[in-house]
Amino acid sequence: MKLVTFSTGSAARVGVVSADGDAVHDVQELLPPGAAMLDVIGAWDTLGPVLRERSAELTSVPLASVELLAPVPEPRRNIWCVGKNYRDHAVEFGRSGYDTPSRSEALPERPIMFSKATTAVTGPGALVDPGPTTELDYEGELTVIIGTGGRGISREDAYRHVWGYTIINDVTARDLQKLHRQWFLGKSLDGFCPMGPYLVTADELDADDIDVRCWVNGELRQDSNSKLLIFDIPTLIETISAGIELQPGDVIATGTPAGVGIGFNPPKFLQSGDVVRMEIRNIGILENEVF
Ligand code: MG
Repeated sequence: MKLVTFSTGSAARVGVVSADGDAVHDVQELLPPGAAMLDVIGAWDTLGPVLRERSAELTSVPLASVELLAPVPEPRRNIWCVGKNYRDHAVEFGRSGYDTPSRSEALPERPIMFSKATTAVTGPGALVDPGPTTELDYEGELTVIIGTGGRGISREDAYRHVWGYTIINDVTARDLQKLHRQWFLGKSLDGFCPMGPYLVTADELDADDIDVRCWVNGELRQDSNSKLLIFDIPTLIETISAGIELQPGDVIATGTPAGVGIGFNPPKFLQSGDVVRMEIRNIGILENEVF
């Protein structure tokens, strides 16, 4: 099942994408009053079967006629992120000189965790405003949505805690990332976390073997597969939950493969009017233009 948060001009609503992919069923009447996507995920054991059985009965509107918002427009807490989680990207990042203070191409021995502010989240089609950066970069990432929370989750149990998946563009201000010697500031600017277009339930995706692709102005820049993750999804869940309780609706971006702007020499930073398009089969296409 594919779920969206959408607007037809008024308040945000939860929808289910039709079987043919062309329309969205407004399922708000099947949910508790005022429920948003996080409430749906949190009560999935109850609401999931209802949505599966009854969504198609409800009236639908063409997908093209609605505004898609980020499927989780207001996460409860920061987006979990992982640095250098594909070998080829770890090498390109090390070579670039932007991974201060080191210039190491060595692969990480443990997941490098950081986060993006919730306020960075924006929707498919939203303009990305560079703000103060002159070195704007993109990172296409397969992203996990946690269903059942938990602490001390083992690798073996990890997938039982995965509700589904989406795509995130981990937009990055490389100059801020370098000058401030940490990753939070340069990755948390307003609008630096396009998400979507859909949330896809875990049953529709083999997350251990799925292509991750990204184009800039039609040029294929990133072309990889999640089986090349250095630290796979169970490892990330085990690592985070060892000391921090994961919560329903938590968002974990799994890292980006090679082909980001600083992977080129000279770097190919994004410019005004550039269109970044990310695609993961069974999830969809996340496209955003630079303001
Ligand atoms: Mg990233």
